[in-house]
Order: sequence, then structure tokens, then C-alpha cells
Amino acid sequence: MTRKEILAGAKRVLIKIGSAVLSGENGLDLQIIEQLVDEMAQLKKKGYQIVIVTSGAIASGKHRMGISGKLKSMPQKQAAAAIGQGRLMRVYSNAFGKYGLYVAQILLTMSDLTDRKRFLNIRNTLSTLIEWGVIAVINENDSVAVDEIKFGDNDHLAAMITNTIEAHLLINLTSTEGLYDRNPSGSKKAKLISLVKEFTKEIESAATEETTPIGMGGMKSKVLAAKKVTAFGIPCIIAPGRRKGVLHDIFAGKEIGTLFLPTSEHLSSRKHWIAFTLRSRGKLIIDEGAKKALLEEGKSLLPSGVVGVEGDFAIGDPVTCVDMEGITVAKGLANYGAPEIRKIMGVKSSRIEQILGYKDYDEIIHRDNLAITRESIKP
Ligand code: GLU
Repeated sequence: MTRKEILAGAKRVLIKIGSAVLSGENGLDLQIIEQLVDEMAQLKKKGYQIVIVTSGAIASGKHRMGISGKLKSMPQKQAAAAIGQGRLMRVYSNAFGKYGLYVAQILLTMSDLTDRKRFLNIRNTLSTLIEWGVIAVINENDSVAVDEIKFGDNDHLAAMITNTIEAHLLINLTSTEGLYDRNPSGSKKAKLISLVKEFTKEIESAATEETTPIGMGGMKSKVLAAKKVTAFGIPCIIAPGRRKGVLHDIFAGKEIGTLFLPTSEHLSSRKHWIAFTLRSRGKLIIDEGAKKALLEEGKSLLPSGVVGVEGDFAIGDPVTCVDMEGITVAKGLANYGAPEIRKIMGVKSSRIEQILGYKDYDEIIHRDNLAITRESIKP
């Protein structure tokens, strides 16, 4: 697929705007925000559906408190986010208001998305907002998020929301031109990579964790976000957010930023949720026959193909399936808990009842609850 073909098919777009794009030493950069909103309003007029994931709350709150440099403690960041989030929304609301467009604030933590019910509620809210033509402006709920429920950075949040709304494209606006073959701040020879077809070691090591004084995630987390959405069959572009006309140029098919092509067929939203949102509670080691049945024939995982169980998970928990070499093959929801699987692994399904005294399912993981992706699955 060419860049133009990909962009022609992208009507529902998630646009992620990083702190380093929309804020500077003096807090929020109103001029840049207005410039981007102007472009988004024009896209909206042309019929594009836009959802925004935006940073900037902490940077804005910090500036309000007259603090320069990085904030040290978590409570300080949380307090700054609480101060800045209101202002961030007001700025977006005023800017979109000039075009007669409304915005809606959504603040999320990771645990909102791992809970299937809440995930579905959020999805319903977002699709209603899209239907109503209102721009959802999403940020992490920093003031309540502690480590276990944190996305960590807005790149991760943006990837998750791209899946949630089944967007056709993720545009990650950042303070650099895109992904370089080496860290551009350390080398003048660094070259911009305009197209990424697969996540080779070179691509992964091209991105570093180094961040700007304002940004959080660095290029590494942007590449990881691209990896997550492309594995879902959605393309991603990392592009320079401060460049005038950046969105227009992207949709005009101009060579701008780094385009990541989808690396797999479109995974259903539910399977993507299983693969990328849920945290695995254990591991099933599967034999070559089962691996082939899963990868090539789209079959369910049966007890006969399981050769080992790691961890202590319960029925319904997410587990990863690894091959005999330890490479992740799939992730799914287990129909039996770890103690039961230890008893029935290696046997035919017809013997489950005899061994356990009951049989609720023939499969260890039913194929409807099994997401196959190669390597990119988070354990
Ligand atoms: N949620 C944070 C904020 O609004 C930013 C996190 C990030 O940039 O990754 O300030």
C-alpha cells in the first residue's frame, strides 16, 4: 500500500499531541494550539472524525505554580496536572469554539480500560461523541493514577484509544521530524526514516528513551505505541507537531514524518483488548502441533497441546501461550485455572471429566478468546 492509499482510507483519526509540541518554558503555547486546532477544524469540515489525546496538563500546572525544571515527586506531578487540566481544556474549548465546534473531556487510567465493562462504556461514550461531531479531548487522569494503574505516558494511552475507537490512523505529533536512524541530538549524520514496514532490531534501537525537558515518553514510547497499533492493523505516523500545515501535508500524502505500515491483519477490538490491554497472569507452554494449529489453522488451544504451566491464574484470567523456545505465540482467556490445567495438560479433551470430575469446556482457550500476534504481545 502506498502512503496515499493509506491516507485515503483514513477517516477516523486519533491525533496525539505531546507536551513538547504544545508547551514551552512559558506553559501552554497558545499559538501552536490554535494552529493545530485550525487544521483539525478544517479536517473536521471535510468529514474526518477526530479524537485527540493530549498532554500538557502537568506542564501548564507547573507553569502556573511558577516552578521551572522537572517536578520531583509523584504528588507534585499529580497536583500540577489537577491545576493544569482545567486550563488545558479551556484553551482547547476556546480554540475549537471559534469554529463552532465543541469539545468533551475524558480522563482515564489504565484500570478503566482493563475492566471490560468500563472499556465498553468508554467506547460507547466515544462513539456517541463522534456521532455528535464533538471532539473528545483525552488525557491520563494523572491526579488519581498511581503506578499500577498508570499508562505511564500518553503514547501508550493514545495506542489504547486508537484500538478502542477502531481508528483508521494514529498521528503522533511530536517535537522532532519523526524517527531517525540514530539519536539526532547526538549525531549530525542522523537520517529520518520515512517508512517502517516491520519492527526490526535496527528500528527498535533507533529510538531512545531520552526525553525533552518537557516531554514524558521519548521516541522509544512512540515507537512502542506504533508497534501496538500496527499489530492491530492500523497505520501510524510520527510527525512534527509544530510544523505549520503538518496535518494538511499528511493528508495530502506528502512525505512527512515516519509512516509505520500495519504489520498484521486487522485484529478485532476484543482480541486486541485481550492482547494489549490485559496483563497476563501466567504462561502456557505449548508444543509444535498446537503452535501450528493456532498460528496456521486458527484453532482453539486444547489440553493435548499444552506441555507446561507457569503461574497461578484462575479461570477467565489472561495467559500468554509460548512455544517450546519461550517465544510468545498468542494470548487468551483461560477456560480452566492453573491447578486444573496442570492435571489435564497433555491429555485428550474426552478425558477432562474423568480427571477433574467435571468438564465445562473442551478447550483450554477458545479461539474466540485467543489473540494471535507474533512477538509484539506484552506478557
Ligand atoms: N498526562 C500528562 C500531562 O498531561 C503527560 C503525559 C505524557 O506526555 O506522556 O501533562
